[in-house]
Amino acid sequence: MKGGAGARLLVAQAARRMWKLGLVSGSSGNVSLRVGNVIYITPSGVPYALLTPRMVVALDPEGHMLSGTCAPSSEWRLHLLIYREFPGVRAVVHTHSPYATAAAVRGELPLVTDEARLRFPKGVPVARHAPPGTWEIARATVEALRLGSEVCLLGRHGVVAPGRTLWEALDRALAVEEAARCALLLSVD
Ligand code: 13P
Ligand code: ZN
Repeated sequence: MKGGAGARLLVAQAARRMWKLGLVSGSSGNVSLRVGNVIYITPSGVPYALLTPRMVVALDPEGHMLSGTCAPSSEWRLHLLIYREFPGVRAVVHTHSPYATAAAVRGELPLVTDEARLRFPKGVPVARHAPPGTWEIARATVEALRLGSEVCLLGRHGVVAPGRTLWEALDRALAVEEAARCALLLSVD
């Protein structure tokens, strides 16, 4: 896995891909990658259309800025706590994709297709609601992921998809959105 400039490039590419896929709009959501003890995370509030690799922020495991000129994502606590609690995780994607977010507001995501059940055999838990950008939302996310699912929803908020790579995390975020879309289409007469 590349460090420094290579990691910044990968994070910026994954973030733009997430945006192009329609999983986020404007500057919502965030992406991070862990390389050794360094966490590379998207900057806070920067529209994906304007995001460059140089804007990606490097943090140590305590959340101190190692380099970067922008403020790190306001969800840096959530990303850091996932890396701390799940050593196999190397990347985290957080989206506000609309169908999955609607399921998060409803408080459940019924898996209605065989594909979704195969993909998420332990279901997709919804973390208890907590305010964005807090240690409370970070703890609620880790509690939900400890149930064993690959992904979770954040109560009234969106999706968190960890992975061994950025592409695995992104793929999981996309699969959750597809599952939520099917569930919602079925529930509408
Ligand atoms: P940031 O722009 O600070 O990453 O915030 C976006 C978000 O999704 C907050 O939950
Ligand atoms: Zn969010």
